[in-house]
Amino acid sequence: MSMTRIAKWIAQVKNKSYYPARRFIVDLVSRSCNCGHWELSGLPCAHVMAAISHARHTAKEYLPKYFTKQAYLNTYVVMFKPIPDKVTWDRCDRPKLSPPEITKKIGRPKNSRKRAATGQ
Ligand SMILES: [Zn+2]
Repeated sequence: MSMTRIAKWIAQVKNKSYYPARRFIVDLVSRSCNCGHWELSGLPCAHVMAAISHARHTAKEYLPKYFTKQAYLNTYVVMFKPIPDKVTWDRCDRPKLSPPEITKKIGRPKNSRKRAATGQ
């Protein structure tokens, strides 16, 4: 990939892995790349990573806070109540559910194989 700086925080990244080579515009201020991956997933794409390293920044500055270790740990701060054992469940007087009955149809079963067309 080759870089061309258009403005202070906007760069044009030429990706030569495509044929013909494609150009992507990366805007570090509005956090957008015209490939759309950054806006869609929140994770910087390869074009953004090239622009970030060219601007001598770190990728950590451009990651959303919900990808941090602290956000992950905050997910499990709340106490989860475990599901009690099946033995302790309340009894139900309703009839027990069973699978539907399968009836065999009359006649020869259809042959799903398709024979090749003969020239005759
Ligand atoms: Zn991109």
